[in-house]
Amino acid sequence: MSPNCRFDAVIHFAGLKAVGESVQKPLLYYNNNLIGTITLLEVMAAHGCKKLVFSSSATVYGWPKVVPCTEDFPLVAANPYGRTKLFIEEIARDIYRSDSDWKIILLRYFNPVGAHPSGHIGEDPRGIPNNLMPFVQQVAVGRRQALTVFGTDYNTKDGTGVRDYIHVVDLADGHIAALHKLDEDKIGCEVYNLGTGKGTSVLEMVAAFESASGKKIPLVTSGRRPGDAEVVYASTEKAERELNWKAQYSIDDMCRDQWNWASKNPFGYDTSESTK
Ligand code: UDP
Repeated sequence: MSPNCRFDAVIHFAGLKAVGESVQKPLLYYNNNLIGTITLLEVMAAHGCKKLVFSSSATVYGWPKVVPCTEDFPLVAANPYGRTKLFIEEIARDIYRSDSDWKIILLRYFNPVGAHPSGHIGEDPRGIPNNLMPFVQQVAVGRRQALTVFGTDYNTKDGTGVRDYIHVVDLADGHIAALHKLDEDKIGCEVYNLGTGKGTSVLEMVAAFESASGKKIPLVTSGRRPGDAEVVYASTEKAERELNWKAQYSIDDMCRDQWNWASKNPFGYDTSESTK
């Protein structure tokens, strides 16, 4: 590294994130997510950069017995992907215990959706999307015929799973707030939920996307997806209090911006229209 090039802090977003793939290829996940993070931490330490913001996940709450999830809930991992998030959190706590110069913020993302309001930046998963909203988006633009709803017998308002969807711009702002927090004196290794504190069902998300896009999303119902939790949403109190951050965008905003991105870029970043 050039002596003129100094890093104040690192935001570590990189990682593989498909749950099913992680079950099939655990070593790929442990190698990429864990070894990649350890290498990054070693390089940071070698260059005296000891401020880190890390993308963790609400997956570490597993199947919460009660909601909203607070940061002090017991942590579990249901699959290799989740285990990599949990292990990295533990590694971060160990690093701070070993060297109190480190300042680390672990951000537990709930369900990021939407796109940049410009319509130029959005999510473009390869292959069949695992997550709800990328799948809905691909149905809306005609790339897929119908959304499969995984489970209609949950103990929720309409029987479908409930999650805490958060606009990606709010999520990005949460990182800026975390970076500011790292400038304070006593940080240690802290963890914050990034969510809205509101639960929305699969059918509610579909209805909101239909009204934002004017497109009908055909549905096929099926059994529960193995490993899925029933209801997961965040307590946002700690982030509001200590990061001075609160999500601003509504479900309708998320769907509007996601549709803006999708309608302008029905094949994502691929202009050849060949990657279906
Ligand atoms: N879901 C669904 N069909 C899909 C993808 C997801 O019904 O094709 C449901 C899923 O069962 C869950 C919710 O949508 O209740 C959010 O799923 P996602 O994979 O986006 O997030 P996660 O389950 O990891 O929180």
